[in-house]
Amino acid sequence: MNKKARDKTMEILSNRENKQIFLMKCLEEVAQEENFPLIDLEEKYKPYFVSFESSDGDRCVDDRYILTGLSEQYPYDKTQNSGYKGIALPGGTFGFIDALRYVTEMREDEAQNLVMQVYQENKWLIGDHIDDEHGQISDPEILKQRNQGCGDQDKKRAGLIPMLKDIVTSDDVDSRFIWIRNKGFLPVLAGEHRAKIAIVNLKEGETYCNEKAVKDDNYAFNFDLAEVEKRAAVFGQALEDQDKLSGEKNQFIEEIVRAVLRNYFQTLKALNGPAEIQVRK
Ligand SMILES: [Zn+2]
Repeated sequence: MNKKARDKTMEILSNRENKQIFLMKCLEEVAQEENFPLIDLEEKYKPYFVSFESSDGDRCVDDRYILTGLSEQYPYDKTQNSGYKGIALPGGTFGFIDALRYVTEMREDEAQNLVMQVYQENKWLIGDHIDDEHGQISDPEILKQRNQGCGDQDKKRAGLIPMLKDIVTSDDVDSRFIWIRNKGFLPVLAGEHRAKIAIVNLKEGETYCNEKAVKDDNYAFNFDLAEVEKRAAVFGQALEDQDKLSGEKNQFIEEIVRAVLRNYFQTLKALNGPAEIQVRK
């Protein structure tokens, strides 16, 4: 290998290492501020991480699985695509919109328009979910109208996520479900929450496969932080290109990463979820 190629390889390696250090630093600081202890991920949960298609719709951190059997009646239920495993963040794509609004003071409609534009350019698919009211609703006609069951967004609608309570209104949340039904992916998640642990995933290119994990009763909340950081970088560039970035791009990326982390912790607290975080390095 010549010197130039070696220098390039070293630069890539050091950037990868720096990114892990950067994400870990953000995670440690925000976890401390929100009182979440961090431990390494238990071995038994590691086999459920699988690679994903970036064209699969974004997912919530929710531990449940997709309700099957409604495909014909329910156009948003793509369960025949059983490999569905898009990246996971609190409230799916809505969690990214929440972070954008927290960091930039954008209006809801501006944030939705920017997300649609950047997602279309990159062939990503907006996504979140509703639920079957923990097994109480099976009527497809009711499910077609339902805008509830994503606990993260339900808590925001009720003003119970402190960092967003003066930013995101109940009308904003309702408008998101109309938007996503028309332009994205909104499956129905089924059954009760059974997660014993909450994960932050610092590895790129992989996410937690709920369909596999629930068969072994290894339900878990999972948040793909490394992938969200990559998306933040793409959005930072888009804002810079449109002359809409007020500060440095790296500053914007860090603020988005910290905002989505804080959002995850505050959502776990609001849902009485796990009180510590398992980290996948
Ligand atoms: Zn959810």
